[in-house]
Amino acid sequence: MPLKNFWQAPGLRREMRQRIYLSSPHMSGLEMDYVDEAFKTNWVAPLGPHVTAFENEMCIFTGRKYAAALSSGTAAIHLGLKALGVGKGDIVFCPSFTFAGSANPIDYLGAIPVFIDSDPDTFNMSPSALEAAYKEYPNPKAVIIVNLYGNPADFGALLCITKRYGTPVLEDAAESLGAEYQGKQTGSFGDISILSFNGNKIITTSGGGMALTDSQKWRDKIVFWATQSREKAAWYQHEEIGYNYRLSNILAGIGRGQLKVLEARVKRKTEIFELYAREFADNPHIRMCPQTAGGKSNRWLTVITLSGECKAGVMDVIGALEKENIEARPVWKPMHLQPVFKNCPFFSALSATGVCASLFERGVCLPSDTKMSDGEVRLVAAIVNSVVGTC
Ligand SMILES: *Cc1c(COP(=O)(O)O)cnc(C)c1O
Repeated sequence: MPLKNFWQAPGLRREMRQRIYLSSPHMSGLEMDYVDEAFKTNWVAPLGPHVTAFENEMCIFTGRKYAAALSSGTAAIHLGLKALGVGKGDIVFCPSFTFAGSANPIDYLGAIPVFIDSDPDTFNMSPSALEAAYKEYPNPKAVIIVNLYGNPADFGALLCITKRYGTPVLEDAAESLGAEYQGKQTGSFGDISILSFNGNKIITTSGGGMALTDSQKWRDKIVFWATQSREKAAWYQHEEIGYNYRLSNILAGIGRGQLKVLEARVKRKTEIFELYAREFADNPHIRMCPQTAGGKSNRWLTVITLSGECKAGVMDVIGALEKENIEARPVWKPMHLQPVFKNCPFFSALSATGVCASLFERGVCLPSDTKMSDGEVRLVAAIVNSVVGTC
């Protein structure tokens, strides 16, 4: 299908435009003050005043009691699961529709992931698929619940089930910082919750993560393991295997500068989502990603799904955008379809292949960068509408 060039208005021509990204780092300008301070005071180390302050500020923001700043979200999941007692041969429930960073740490601990399908109304873990998994595996050691693309999971239904079975929950809020469910910040729903500050996330430290909890015992254990499990002794005494997972004081400084603009970032991400929604309102082949009832997404990425009757496929849309130097991606490929996890059990309430497999066939992540102008959002929407067609 030939593309019309109507969107190439002056000033928007490809060769005159910077690449438009899915979600790229967006500095506030305040970060350098914190980084300077770290240099001036010589706190160039994986500990220091910014680390402690960043942890405290994040506790206040999410309403948690304790935080441990770590080198990545994946490290936080690893040590979070370990704190919940996950070890060799244990079963851990995990949504199939997520980034591999949610699932890999299950394997680091020698545990077995059991993948759970998505609910079509939230894209997140389906409560009925979770029930189905419990029928076969009544004693999982932990359940990982992910807030995908910034949309909170259906915690009302999900936590009711996990409580009934007495399973601890690790909330993966890597993508959802600033999102709310029933008026409470995400990051406050797990026995242990985790955040990521990777470069693509809503706020970034270039790379980093955090574990959040109300248990001082778990927080202390996580920090202990993250610093090579060094015992309290004058010499280096080790009675357990440890890791080098702490966040640097310089990166924590970047995080403090970023946290100051988190609310502004959520606001802009939401405006971008709403602008796309208006531009696609008359296109019967495009459905906007859902928002969980009772939830307020941070709209980290705007995701659309194409209808079955649509002439164009996901890769047609992505290819047309790439031609205009615009980044778009398929949604996460489900974990139960990944070769590395092909032998792991998968539970769905609706179909053998899963709701998430059909979302993977029809879902596109659109550029949701907070540095985009409204004109750029409209440009992306015009290209998508033109590829997808409106009839
Ligand atoms: C980014 C991400 C992670 C991992 O975080 P890193 O900081 O990149 O290790 C885990 N889970 C989800 C859902 C993510 O999007």
